[in-house]
Amino acid sequence: MAIRVGVLGAAGRMGSTVCAAVEGDADLDLVARVDIDDPIQSLVDNGAEVAVDFTTADAARKNVLFCLDNSIHAVVGTTGLSESDLETIRKRAETSSANAFIAPNFAVGAVLMMRFAAAAARYFRNVEIIERHHENKIDAPSGTALRTAQLMNEQRSEPWDPIEPSKESLSGSRGGEEGGVHIHSIRVPGSVAHQEVILGSAGETLTIRHDSLDRSSFMPGVLLAVKKIGELEGLTVGLDALLDA
Ligand code: NAD
Repeated sequence: MAIRVGVLGAAGRMGSTVCAAVEGDADLDLVARVDIDDPIQSLVDNGAEVAVDFTTADAARKNVLFCLDNSIHAVVGTTGLSESDLETIRKRAETSSANAFIAPNFAVGAVLMMRFAAAAARYFRNVEIIERHHENKIDAPSGTALRTAQLMNEQRSEPWDPIEPSKESLSGSRGGEEGGVHIHSIRVPGSVAHQEVILGSAGETLTIRHDSLDRSSFMPGVLLAVKKIGELEGLTVGLDALLDA
């Protein structure tokens, strides 16, 4: 039996790509397309078993709870959810018969980039992340950049040694900072999603780079999560959890 799928944010760049990917998969059945002016209740009315959310953080934090309260599994790609949002979702998922899966990046290459960056983290003293996205991206830095920094920080037994200039003639020149990892966000038309992690120590640098050139890069990960979420109790964060499953 095909899994019945609803898409939230169906008219958006990612949502419309997800709709096409679901329609092209014989194991899935697209039963609801919901955008901002449509009632979310149509997920229930059309018997959706899994909802995929690519909306905004404000919308997603409500949408996921609606799904869990209505026994619909939620696969979330929307970025910008906070730690406290994740905690609320985790608690609700524990008491729901449905599960939640949240990934800031569904591209397999991006997940590997994060893994490689985490593996390298304890061998270098300095790191900078440069991420580049299209001009319509709402949040900065990207969810992927933040998650990369967090995964790298988990591998460190001692703090990074961030280099601060003695004179900053233009405020913000050194970017944002997450636990000693400087993050620089570039927003420019013509981009999709790109990231470089540059590690340095005396006399050498290591650059780990990933480019999503097209939104199709996210679809294998989204479809994998849709098919697996029924087996993932509670809340799962990150595509990493599914790659070797
Ligand atoms: P977009 O603006 O093109 O699409 C968002 C859509 O959501 C719009 O059509 C909007 O009308 C709709 N929407 C807003 N509120 C809604 C609501 N309450 N109910 C239903 N629909 C609603 O944005 P996009 O480029 O498709 O990105 C969407 C999100 O996905 C962003 O948070 C982005 O960062 C994230 N993203 C994640 C990944 C990933 O791999 N996890 C990849 C790309 C983008």
